[in-house]
Amino acid sequence: MTAREDLRREMTHNHLYMTEERADELIDAALAEAAAATPGARPLAVGDVIHGFAYGAFGRDHYHCVRIEAIGPDWIVARGANSEPSFADGERALQLCQRAREEGHQTPYGEPPEPCPAEASAGAPLTDWQA
Ligand SMILES: [Zn+2]
Repeated sequence: MTAREDLRREMTHNHLYMTEERADELIDAALAEAAAATPGARPLAVGDVIHGFAYGAFGRDHYHCVRIEAIGPDWIVARGANSEPSFADGERALQLCQRAREEGHQTPYGEPPEPCPAEASAGAPLTDWQA
């Protein structure tokens, strides 16, 4: 059974008894499955912007857009305007980051988006790092 079928079954037959943890588990699995099925997803690269929550790839309390500053074989470090560096690693998290990158800058309720803060030009650079 696929993750999508799992999610669908639980939503239609067991939603009254589902915990938030179980719901997160099912949603994450379905998203990861969809991300893995995306053909030809471009590898993450330094300079890519990953928007918003990114399906929890950086943790549950991460809601800001970030730009990738460093990459390794299965990890990335990314940072937004005036934010601490954020770290994500592992196949699932990076697939979710690819998905958030591809979807572009969005707003939670479909209102006209503010410009993406991670895509806006910054002030005077502190290093000569370039995307
Ligand atoms: Zn954004």
